[in-house]
Amino acid sequence: MNNTIKENWLETEERIKKANPDGKDITVVAVTKTHSTQVIENALALGFSEIGENKAQEFVEKYDRMEGQKENINWHMIGHLQRNKVKYVVGKTKLIQSLDSMRLAKEIEKRGAAEGITVDTLLQVNVAREEAKYGIFMEDVISFLKNIETFKSLKIRGLMTMAPFYQDPEETRECFKKLKNMFEELKKEEYNNVSMDYLSMGMSNDFEVAVEEGSNMLRLGRTLFGERPKSKK
Ligand SMILES: *Cc1c(COP(=O)(O)O)cnc(C)c1O
Repeated sequence: MNNTIKENWLETEERIKKANPDGKDITVVAVTKTHSTQVIENALALGFSEIGENKAQEFVEKYDRMEGQKENINWHMIGHLQRNKVKYVVGKTKLIQSLDSMRLAKEIEKRGAAEGITVDTLLQVNVAREEAKYGIFMEDVISFLKNIETFKSLKIRGLMTMAPFYQDPEETRECFKKLKNMFEELKKEEYNNVSMDYLSMGMSNDFEVAVEEGSNMLRLGRTLFGERPKSKK
């Protein structure tokens, strides 16, 4: 098992390097959703520290079970977060990558203040305006950032997107290009509570295109751990 993951990673790493000839810094978040904590242990043994989960309850269970590895893990919440689950998640993550509404922002702000901490997030952008996906439309990003300026306990550290699924990953290029442009434009601005550090785009089926278009954070599941078990959601 561990060996398969290792082989998968070596192969994936090779592909990332090819797409990134300048050797820019790219953080890989290992997406372990649906997998056991043993898989997380295996990922840590391979040198991963960034672990991504997409469901609050599953995340909290794994967080508790991985207590002994606390120092070695940075957790990323990457899936849609309901407001009533925010209290279980805040204070446990390096990044909540799925900030997808102002109502959620306000809830995170409230919980962060209650715990006396600052919560780092990425603004999830629905670049392709897909109905089935969460995220802010591109034209609403700036007003969103302006609204965050008065917050005390929430920071936006960059942008995240999920490209539409295409058989041919080349089709995702336009989407990644658009978000990269926006990321660079926003970098020049100075909004309170906003710093454009992370551009999280690229998953197993499209990470090479994402890297070519300037992603600095990949969220990889299947290419590392194989197909996910179907029974558990
Ligand atoms: C599951 C998931 C991923 C990883 O997807 P793979 O295709 O397994 O690489 C990345 N981002 C989000 C938001 C996800 O839910």
